Amino acid sequence: MEARRSDTTIVVQSDHFIDEKTGAVVPPIHTSTTFARDENYELIGEIRYGRYGNPTCIQAENMLAKLDGGKQARIFGSGLAACTAVFETLRSGQHILAPKVMYHGAQKWMRRIADRRGIELSFFDQADPNALRASIRENTALLWIESPVNPTWDVIDIADAAAAVHAVGGILCVDGSVSPPVTQKPLEHGADIVFHSVSKYLNGHSDVLGGVLITKELDDRWEEINVIRNLSGAVLGAFEAWLLIRGMRTLFVRFERASRNALEIARHFSSHPLIDAVLYPGLESHPRHDVAKRQQTHGFGGMMSMLIKGNAEQARKVCCALNVILIGASLGGVESLVEHRASVEGPESAVPHNLIRFSIGIEPVNELIEDIEQALKAIN
Ligand SMILES: *Cc1c(COP(=O)(O)O)cnc(C)c1O
Repeated sequence: MEARRSDTTIVVQSDHFIDEKTGAVVPPIHTSTTFARDENYELIGEIRYGRYGNPTCIQAENMLAKLDGGKQARIFGSGLAACTAVFETLRSGQHILAPKVMYHGAQKWMRRIADRRGIELSFFDQADPNALRASIRENTALLWIESPVNPTWDVIDIADAAAAVHAVGGILCVDGSVSPPVTQKPLEHGADIVFHSVSKYLNGHSDVLGGVLITKELDDRWEEINVIRNLSGAVLGAFEAWLLIRGMRTLFVRFERASRNALEIARHFSSHPLIDAVLYPGLESHPRHDVAKRQQTHGFGGMMSMLIKGNAEQARKVCCALNVILIGASLGGVESLVEHRASVEGPESAVPHNLIRFSIGIEPVNELIEDIEQALKAIN
Protein backbone atom coordinates (compact mmCIF):
# COMPACT_ATOMS: atom_id res chain seq x y z
CA MET A 1 0.00 0.00 0.00
CA GLU A 2 1.32 3.44 -0.87
CA ALA A 3 1.87 5.63 2.16
CA ARG A 4 -0.16 8.82 2.42
CA ARG A 5 2.27 11.68 2.15
CA SER A 6 1.61 15.28 3.06
CA ASP A 7 2.04 18.01 0.45
CA THR A 8 5.17 19.15 2.28
CA THR A 9 6.72 15.68 2.04
CA ILE A 10 5.75 15.41 -1.63
CA VAL A 11 7.76 18.49 -2.58
CA VAL A 12 10.62 17.92 -0.11
CA GLN A 13 11.24 14.44 -1.55
CA SER A 14 10.40 15.34 -5.18
CA ASP A 15 7.45 12.94 -5.07
CA HIS A 16 9.40 10.25 -3.18
CA PHE A 17 11.83 10.01 -6.07
CA ILE A 18 14.37 7.17 -5.98
CA ASP A 19 16.20 6.30 -9.20
CA GLU A 20 15.78 2.58 -9.81
CA LYS A 21 19.23 2.07 -11.30
CA THR A 22 21.37 4.21 -9.01
CA GLY A 23 19.36 4.95 -5.87
CA ALA A 24 19.79 8.71 -6.46
CA VAL A 25 17.19 10.75 -4.56
CA VAL A 26 17.33 13.79 -6.84
CA PRO A 27 15.52 13.48 -10.18
CA PRO A 28 17.78 13.73 -13.27
CA ILE A 29 17.48 16.31 -16.05
CA HIS A 30 16.36 14.63 -19.26
CA THR A 31 17.69 16.80 -22.05
CA SER A 32 16.72 14.42 -24.87
CA THR A 33 14.32 15.89 -27.42
CA THR A 34 13.59 12.57 -29.08
CA PHE A 35 12.37 9.35 -27.53
CA ALA A 36 12.93 5.93 -29.05
CA ARG A 37 10.45 3.21 -30.04
CA ASP A 38 10.78 -0.55 -29.54
CA GLU A 39 10.80 -3.43 -32.04
CA ASN A 40 6.99 -3.19 -32.41
CA TYR A 41 7.23 0.55 -33.19
CA GLU A 42 5.69 1.33 -29.80
CA LEU A 43 7.00 4.28 -27.79
CA ILE A 44 9.11 3.09 -24.84
CA GLY A 45 8.03 6.03 -22.66
CA GLU A 46 5.11 8.51 -22.66
CA ILE A 47 6.58 11.06 -25.07
CA ARG A 48 7.78 10.98 -28.66
CA TYR A 49 9.26 14.46 -29.09
CA GLY A 50 10.43 17.28 -26.80
CA ARG A 51 7.75 19.77 -27.86
CA TYR A 52 5.15 17.44 -26.31
CA GLY A 53 6.91 17.61 -22.96
CA ASN A 54 9.79 15.75 -21.40
CA PRO A 55 10.25 13.45 -18.41
CA THR A 56 11.57 16.27 -16.21
CA CYS A 57 8.51 18.41 -16.99
CA ILE A 58 6.23 15.46 -16.27
CA GLN A 59 7.92 14.96 -12.90
CA ALA A 60 7.15 18.61 -12.01
CA GLU A 61 3.62 18.41 -13.46
CA ASN A 62 2.73 15.36 -11.39
CA MET A 63 3.75 17.15 -8.20
CA LEU A 64 1.92 20.34 -9.13
CA ALA A 65 -1.28 18.39 -9.92
CA LYS A 66 -1.09 16.66 -6.53
CA LEU A 67 -0.53 19.91 -4.59
CA ASP A 68 -3.56 21.62 -6.11
CA GLY A 69 -5.72 18.49 -6.05
CA GLY A 70 -6.24 18.45 -9.85
CA LYS A 71 -6.43 15.66 -12.41
CA GLN A 72 -3.49 16.90 -14.47
CA ALA A 73 -1.02 19.78 -14.75
CA ARG A 74 0.73 21.20 -17.81
CA ILE A 75 3.74 23.47 -17.57
CA PHE A 76 4.60 26.25 -19.97
CA GLY A 77 7.64 28.38 -20.82
CA SER A 78 6.25 31.35 -18.85
CA GLY A 79 3.22 32.27 -16.79
CA LEU A 80 1.78 34.32 -19.61
CA ALA A 81 2.25 31.45 -22.08
CA ALA A 82 -0.02 29.40 -19.80
CA CYS A 83 -2.59 32.26 -19.63
CA THR A 84 -2.44 32.52 -23.42
CA ALA A 85 -3.37 28.85 -23.81
CA VAL A 86 -6.57 29.46 -21.79
CA PHE A 87 -7.45 32.63 -23.76
CA GLU A 88 -6.85 30.74 -27.04
CA THR A 89 -9.76 28.40 -26.27
CA LEU A 90 -12.25 31.30 -26.49
CA ARG A 91 -14.40 32.02 -29.54
CA SER A 92 -15.76 35.27 -30.91
CA GLY A 93 -19.02 36.28 -29.27
CA GLN A 94 -17.99 34.88 -25.89
CA HIS A 95 -17.38 37.08 -22.87
CA ILE A 96 -14.39 37.27 -20.50
CA LEU A 97 -14.94 38.82 -17.08
CA ALA A 98 -11.94 39.84 -14.95
CA PRO A 99 -11.15 42.22 -12.06
CA LYS A 100 -10.40 45.90 -12.72
CA VAL A 101 -7.18 45.60 -10.76
CA MET A 102 -5.26 42.42 -11.47
CA TYR A 103 -1.91 41.21 -12.79
CA HIS A 104 -1.13 43.90 -15.33
CA GLY A 105 0.45 41.70 -18.02
CA ALA A 106 -2.47 39.25 -18.17
CA GLN A 107 -4.96 42.11 -18.42
CA LYS A 108 -3.00 43.72 -21.24
CA TRP A 109 -3.02 40.40 -23.11
CA MET A 110 -6.78 39.96 -22.57
CA ARG A 111 -7.45 43.41 -24.03
CA ARG A 112 -5.38 42.59 -27.11
CA ILE A 113 -6.99 39.19 -27.71
CA ALA A 114 -10.52 40.53 -27.16
CA ASP A 115 -9.87 43.41 -29.52
CA ARG A 116 -8.67 41.23 -32.38
CA ARG A 117 -11.03 38.30 -32.04
CA GLY A 118 -14.45 39.82 -31.35
CA ILE A 119 -14.47 38.58 -27.77
CA GLU A 120 -16.40 40.67 -25.24
CA LEU A 121 -14.31 41.78 -22.27
CA SER A 122 -15.38 43.59 -19.14
CA PHE A 123 -13.97 44.29 -15.72
CA PHE A 124 -15.64 44.28 -12.30
CA ASP A 125 -14.69 46.26 -9.21
CA GLN A 126 -12.82 43.67 -7.15
CA ALA A 127 -13.20 45.78 -3.99
CA ASP A 128 -17.01 45.53 -4.09
CA PRO A 129 -18.26 42.05 -3.02
CA ASN A 130 -21.47 42.42 -5.07
CA ALA A 131 -19.92 43.63 -8.32
CA LEU A 132 -18.81 40.25 -9.63
CA ARG A 133 -22.26 38.68 -9.70
CA ALA A 134 -23.78 41.79 -11.24
CA SER A 135 -21.20 41.70 -14.05
CA ILE A 136 -21.78 38.09 -15.18
CA ARG A 137 -23.44 37.93 -18.62
CA GLU A 138 -25.31 35.11 -20.34
CA ASN A 139 -22.32 34.57 -22.64
CA THR A 140 -19.64 34.72 -19.93
CA ALA A 141 -17.40 31.83 -20.96
CA LEU A 142 -14.41 32.66 -18.76
CA LEU A 143 -14.31 34.30 -15.36
CA TRP A 144 -10.66 35.00 -14.62
CA ILE A 145 -9.80 36.04 -11.07
CA GLU A 146 -6.94 36.21 -8.68
CA SER A 147 -7.21 36.34 -4.90
CA PRO A 148 -5.71 38.23 -3.26
CA VAL A 149 -5.64 40.72 -6.13
CA ASN A 150 -2.29 42.16 -7.14
CA PRO A 151 -1.34 44.85 -5.97
CA THR A 152 -4.25 46.07 -3.79
CA TRP A 153 -4.75 42.66 -2.14
CA ASP A 154 -8.53 42.79 -2.27
CA VAL A 155 -9.93 39.33 -1.57
CA ILE A 156 -12.44 37.62 -3.90
CA ASP A 157 -14.67 34.82 -2.64
CA ILE A 158 -13.68 31.91 -4.92
CA ALA A 159 -16.68 29.68 -4.15
CA ASP A 160 -19.06 32.55 -4.83
CA ALA A 161 -17.27 33.34 -8.11
CA ALA A 162 -17.47 29.68 -9.19
CA ALA A 163 -21.20 29.47 -8.47
CA ALA A 164 -21.87 32.72 -10.35
CA VAL A 165 -20.10 31.69 -13.57
CA HIS A 166 -21.27 28.06 -13.48
CA ALA A 167 -24.86 29.32 -13.47
CA VAL A 168 -24.33 30.60 -17.04
CA GLY A 169 -22.23 27.61 -18.17
CA GLY A 170 -18.86 29.37 -18.04
CA ILE A 171 -15.67 28.37 -16.26
CA LEU A 172 -13.67 29.88 -13.43
CA CYS A 173 -9.91 30.15 -13.79
CA VAL A 174 -8.01 31.31 -10.69
CA ASP A 175 -4.54 32.85 -10.86
CA GLY A 176 -2.89 31.55 -7.69
CA SER A 177 0.59 32.95 -8.32
CA VAL A 178 0.65 34.98 -5.10
CA SER A 179 -1.18 32.37 -3.06
CA PRO A 180 0.35 28.95 -3.84
CA PRO A 181 -1.26 25.62 -2.89
CA VAL A 182 0.65 25.75 0.40
CA THR A 183 -2.23 27.90 1.59
CA GLN A 184 -4.97 28.13 -1.06
CA LYS A 185 -6.43 25.42 -3.33
CA PRO A 186 -9.00 27.00 -5.65
CA LEU A 187 -10.16 23.68 -7.16
CA GLU A 188 -11.52 22.77 -3.72
CA HIS A 189 -13.62 25.96 -3.78
CA GLY A 190 -15.15 25.20 -7.20
CA ALA A 191 -12.62 26.58 -9.70
CA ASP A 192 -12.21 24.66 -12.98
CA ILE A 193 -8.61 25.59 -13.75
CA VAL A 194 -5.84 26.95 -11.53
CA PHE A 195 -3.00 28.93 -13.01
CA HIS A 196 0.31 29.74 -11.34
CA SER A 197 3.28 31.65 -12.60
CA VAL A 198 5.90 29.22 -11.26
CA SER A 199 8.37 32.10 -11.64
CA LYS A 200 7.01 33.27 -8.29
CA TYR A 201 6.56 31.27 -5.05
CA LEU A 202 6.65 27.78 -6.55
CA ASN A 203 10.23 28.14 -7.77
CA GLY A 204 10.96 30.91 -5.28
CA HIS A 205 14.50 31.84 -6.27
CA SER A 206 13.93 34.35 -9.10
CA ASP A 207 15.82 32.15 -11.55
CA VAL A 208 13.10 30.29 -13.49
CA LEU A 209 10.42 31.67 -15.81
CA GLY A 210 7.50 29.28 -16.16
CA GLY A 211 3.76 28.78 -15.76
CA VAL A 212 1.40 25.93 -14.99
CA LEU A 213 -2.26 25.14 -15.54
CA ILE A 214 -3.95 22.54 -13.36
CA THR A 215 -7.34 21.15 -14.30
CA LYS A 216 -10.16 19.73 -12.27
CA GLU A 217 -11.47 17.62 -15.19
CA LEU A 218 -9.91 15.89 -18.20
CA ASP A 219 -12.49 17.39 -20.56
CA ASP A 220 -12.47 18.67 -24.17
CA ARG A 221 -11.25 22.08 -23.10
CA TRP A 222 -8.26 20.52 -21.39
CA GLU A 223 -7.54 18.49 -24.51
CA GLU A 224 -7.56 21.70 -26.52
CA ILE A 225 -5.19 23.37 -24.03
CA ASN A 226 -2.80 20.43 -24.49
CA VAL A 227 -2.95 20.79 -28.27
CA ILE A 228 -2.34 24.55 -28.00
CA ARG A 229 0.71 24.05 -25.78
CA ASN A 230 2.20 21.33 -27.94
CA LEU A 231 1.62 22.96 -31.31
CA SER A 232 2.54 26.50 -30.25
CA GLY A 233 5.72 25.12 -28.71
CA ALA A 234 5.11 26.74 -25.34
CA VAL A 235 6.53 23.92 -23.23
CA LEU A 236 9.05 24.56 -20.43
CA GLY A 237 12.66 23.47 -21.04
CA ALA A 238 14.03 20.49 -19.13
CA PHE A 239 16.63 22.50 -17.22
CA GLU A 240 14.02 25.01 -16.00
CA ALA A 241 11.73 22.16 -14.99
CA TRP A 242 14.57 20.68 -12.98
CA LEU A 243 15.30 24.03 -11.28
CA LEU A 244 11.60 24.26 -10.45
CA ILE A 245 11.62 20.80 -8.84
CA ARG A 246 14.69 21.86 -6.89
CA GLY A 247 13.08 25.17 -5.82
CA MET A 248 9.87 23.46 -4.73
CA ARG A 249 11.75 21.35 -2.18
CA THR A 250 11.77 24.36 0.15
CA LEU A 251 8.39 25.82 -0.86
CA PHE A 252 6.68 25.27 2.49
CA VAL A 253 9.43 26.70 4.70
CA ARG A 254 9.96 29.66 2.40
CA PHE A 255 6.26 30.49 2.31
CA GLU A 256 5.85 30.09 6.06
CA ARG A 257 8.77 32.43 6.79
CA ALA A 258 7.67 35.04 4.23
CA SER A 259 4.12 34.96 5.65
CA ARG A 260 5.37 35.42 9.20
CA ASN A 261 7.68 38.29 8.19
CA ALA A 262 4.93 40.01 6.21
CA LEU A 263 2.36 39.79 9.00
CA GLU A 264 4.81 41.31 11.46
CA ILE A 265 5.67 44.13 9.04
CA ALA A 266 1.98 44.75 8.27
CA ARG A 267 1.16 45.02 11.98
CA HIS A 268 4.15 47.24 12.67
CA PHE A 269 3.31 49.80 9.97
CA SER A 270 -0.50 49.75 10.14
CA SER A 271 -0.52 52.59 12.68
CA HIS A 272 2.59 54.39 11.41
CA PRO A 273 2.19 58.20 11.16
CA LEU A 274 3.57 58.36 7.58
CA ILE A 275 1.32 55.53 6.29
CA ASP A 276 -2.33 55.93 5.27
CA ALA A 277 -3.06 52.20 5.09
CA VAL A 278 -1.35 48.83 4.95
CA LEU A 279 -3.08 46.49 2.49
CA TYR A 280 -2.63 42.90 3.67
CA PRO A 281 -5.31 40.19 3.91
CA GLY A 282 -3.71 38.80 7.08
CA LEU A 283 -4.61 41.93 9.05
CA GLU A 284 -7.84 41.64 11.03
CA SER A 285 -8.72 45.13 9.82
CA HIS A 286 -8.73 43.97 6.15
CA PRO A 287 -12.34 44.33 4.92
CA ARG A 288 -12.49 40.69 3.76
CA HIS A 289 -10.21 39.09 6.34
CA ASP A 290 -12.92 36.51 7.07
CA VAL A 291 -12.99 35.30 3.44
CA ALA A 292 -9.18 35.37 3.24
CA LYS A 293 -8.96 33.22 6.40
CA ARG A 294 -11.35 30.67 4.89
CA GLN A 295 -9.46 30.46 1.58
CA GLN A 296 -5.85 30.92 2.73
CA THR A 297 -5.58 28.29 5.42
CA HIS A 298 -1.81 28.34 5.99
CA GLY A 299 -0.64 31.92 5.87
CA PHE A 300 -1.29 35.04 3.84
CA GLY A 301 2.03 35.14 2.02
CA GLY A 302 4.65 37.83 1.61
CA MET A 303 2.77 40.22 -0.66
CA MET A 304 1.53 43.53 0.76
CA SER A 305 1.21 47.16 -0.19
CA MET A 306 1.44 50.41 1.73
CA LEU A 307 -0.40 53.60 0.86
CA ILE A 308 1.94 56.34 1.96
CA LYS A 309 0.90 59.82 3.00
CA GLY A 310 2.19 61.47 -0.13
CA ASN A 311 2.15 61.54 -3.92
CA ALA A 312 3.70 59.41 -6.67
CA GLU A 313 7.01 61.21 -6.49
CA GLN A 314 7.27 60.71 -2.74
CA ALA A 315 6.31 57.05 -3.11
CA ARG A 316 9.14 56.55 -5.61
CA LYS A 317 11.52 58.38 -3.24
CA VAL A 318 10.69 55.93 -0.46
CA CYS A 319 11.44 52.99 -2.80
CA CYS A 320 14.78 54.52 -3.77
CA ALA A 321 15.72 55.18 -0.13
CA LEU A 322 15.53 51.48 0.82
CA ASN A 323 18.94 49.93 1.48
CA VAL A 324 18.14 46.28 2.18
CA ILE A 325 15.02 45.75 0.07
CA LEU A 326 15.76 45.76 -3.67
CA ILE A 327 13.72 47.73 -6.21
CA GLY A 328 12.49 45.35 -8.88
CA ALA A 329 9.67 43.55 -10.64
CA SER A 330 8.44 40.06 -9.81
CA LEU A 331 7.57 38.54 -6.45
CA GLY A 332 7.64 35.39 -4.37
CA GLY A 333 11.41 34.99 -4.30
CA VAL A 334 13.51 34.57 -1.16
CA GLU A 335 14.73 38.18 -1.47
CA SER A 336 12.53 41.13 -0.51
CA LEU A 337 11.54 43.45 -3.35
CA VAL A 338 9.69 46.73 -3.63
CA GLU A 339 7.95 48.36 -6.57
CA HIS A 340 6.01 51.52 -7.39
CA ARG A 341 3.40 49.84 -9.61
CA ALA A 342 1.77 53.00 -10.99
CA SER A 343 5.12 54.04 -12.53
CA VAL A 344 5.62 50.61 -14.10
CA GLU A 345 2.07 50.15 -15.42
CA GLY A 346 1.71 53.56 -17.07
CA PRO A 347 -1.30 55.81 -17.67
CA GLU A 348 -3.99 53.08 -18.02
CA SER A 349 -3.14 51.71 -14.55
CA ALA A 350 -5.90 51.68 -11.92
CA VAL A 351 -3.34 51.40 -9.10
CA PRO A 352 -3.22 54.30 -6.58
CA HIS A 353 -0.21 56.57 -7.08
CA ASN A 354 0.78 56.50 -3.42
CA LEU A 355 0.90 52.68 -3.38
CA ILE A 356 4.18 50.88 -2.75
CA ARG A 357 4.13 47.12 -3.28
CA PHE A 358 6.37 44.82 -1.27
CA SER A 359 7.26 41.21 -1.90
CA ILE A 360 8.53 40.28 1.54
CA GLY A 361 11.20 37.60 1.50
CA ILE A 362 12.88 35.49 4.14
CA GLU A 363 15.49 37.91 5.52
CA PRO A 364 15.42 38.63 9.30
CA VAL A 365 12.28 40.70 9.86
CA ASN A 366 13.89 43.37 12.07
CA GLU A 367 16.29 44.24 9.25
CA LEU A 368 13.33 44.75 6.91
CA ILE A 369 11.37 46.83 9.42
CA GLU A 370 14.36 49.09 10.12
CA ASP A 371 14.95 49.52 6.41
CA ILE A 372 11.35 50.61 5.75
CA GLU A 373 11.38 52.89 8.83
CA GLN A 374 14.48 54.76 7.62
CA ALA A 375 13.22 54.96 4.01
CA LEU A 376 9.87 56.50 5.03
CA LYS A 377 11.81 59.50 6.32
CA ALA A 378 12.46 60.34 2.63
CA ILE A 379 8.86 61.62 2.44
CA ASN A 380 9.81 64.73 4.38
C1 LIG B 1 4.10 37.03 -12.68
C2 LIG B 1 2.66 36.85 -12.74
C3 LIG B 1 2.04 36.39 -13.92
C4 LIG B 1 2.81 36.16 -15.21
O1 LIG B 1 3.76 35.16 -15.12
P1 LIG B 1 5.15 35.18 -15.91
O2 LIG B 1 5.82 33.94 -15.41
O3 LIG B 1 5.86 36.44 -15.54
O4 LIG B 1 4.84 35.13 -17.38
C5 LIG B 1 0.67 36.24 -13.90
N1 LIG B 1 -0.06 36.49 -12.78
C6 LIG B 1 0.50 36.92 -11.64
C7 LIG B 1 -0.36 37.20 -10.45
C8 LIG B 1 1.88 37.10 -11.57
O5 LIG B 1 2.41 37.55 -10.43
